[in-house]
Amino acid sequence: MADREIRTEQQVKDKIKAFNKQRAGLLFAFIIFIGILIFSPAAEAEALPVCLTVFCSAIFLLCGAAFVISFRDLLLLLIVTTGIPAVLLGLGQIRFELFLILLLTNVGTVFTASITGKAVTRSFTNEIEEINRLKTEATTDALTHLLNRNGLEQAAGTAWALCKRDKKKVGVILADIDYFKSYNDTLGHPEGDNILRQVADSVKSCFRRETDIISRIGGDEFLIFLSEVNDDRILEMAQSLSSSIINLKVTTASENNPGDFLSVSIGVATSTPQPDDLLVDLYKAVDKALYRAKRAGRNCISFHDKLIQSGCLWRHHFL
Ligand code: GH3
Ligand code: MG
Repeated sequence: MADREIRTEQQVKDKIKAFNKQRAGLLFAFIIFIGILIFSPAAEAEALPVCLTVFCSAIFLLCGAAFVISFRDLLLLLIVTTGIPAVLLGLGQIRFELFLILLLTNVGTVFTASITGKAVTRSFTNEIEEINRLKTEATTDALTHLLNRNGLEQAAGTAWALCKRDKKKVGVILADIDYFKSYNDTLGHPEGDNILRQVADSVKSCFRRETDIISRIGGDEFLIFLSEVNDDRILEMAQSLSSSIINLKVTTASENNPGDFLSVSIGVATSTPQPDDLLVDLYKAVDKALYRAKRAGRNCISFHDKLIQSGCLWRHHFL
C-alpha cells in the first residue's frame, strides 16, 4: 500500500477515535439514566429479568447508534448483550416472545449501525483525502511535481532548525537555466514546459538523499537545500547537476543564445548556522552567487570566491 494511503487510513482511524471519544461521556450518562428509569421503583411491577433484558437491548441500541465501530466489534457487542437475555431465557425467567422481539431489534440495529458506520468512515476518508490533496497542491509545483516555494519554506525551515540544533553544515544550490526565454521563443511554450520537466528530472536524479529538499521556486529557477554537507561534496553535486543538464543535449537555434546545449548557471552557498543566523541570509548569499555565475558568462558554478566552468576551476575575486 502506498505511504499516502497508509497515512490517510491512520488519520481516518484517529478521527473515528476522536469522534467516538466525544460521544463516550454522553452515552455513559444516557445508559445510567435509562438504567435508573428501567430499574426504578416506578418499574417495580416489572420482573427483574425483563428489566435486565430490556436494559441489555437498550445498551446495544445506544452503542450501535452512538459509536462508529467495525462490523466485527458490533457482532461481538451483540453476542455479549444478547448473552444475558439468552441465559435468562434458558432459565425460563423471560418469555420467548420478548427475547425474540429484542433479538430482532438488535439484529436490525447491527445492520443499520454498520451501514451508518461505513457512510461515516467514507465521509471521513473523503474529507481527509481532500485535505491531503489541498495540502499537497499548496506545496507542490504542478508542472514538475517538485516542491514549490511554499513547500520549500516549510521543509527547509525544519531542516535548518535541526541543523542549527545539531551544529551541522547546510548548503543551498540555486540553478537557473541559461537563455531559457530563447527556448520558449523558438520551440514554443509547451516545449519550454517539457524542458522544465526534463531539468526537474535531472535535478531529482542528482539529489537522491532522503533529506535533500528539491524545489522549483520560479519560472526556470531550481533550489536544492542540503543538510549535513561539506564544501567539497556540495561542489561535486553542483558539478554533476551542471553536467547532467548539458547531457540532455537540448538545442535551439536562436541568435539570442550563444550556447550549444541547454545549460544552467549555478550559485552555491553553505553555512553552519549559529543560534542567531537566519535562513534568509543563506538565500541572499546563494542569490548573489548565482548572479555572479550569470555575470561571469553563464554555464558555470559560483561558490565562495571560486568559479567553476566546463570542468576547470579557477580562483576569481569579484569586484
Ligand atoms: P538568463 O540566462 O539570464 O537566466 O536568461 P533567461 O532567458 O533564462 O531569463 P530568465 O531566467 O529571466 O527567464 C525565465 C523565463 O522563463 C521567462 C519566462 O518566459 C519563462 N518561464 C517562466 N515560467 C515558465 C513556465 O512555467 N513554462 C515555460 N515554458 N516558461 C516559463
Ligand atoms: Mg534563466
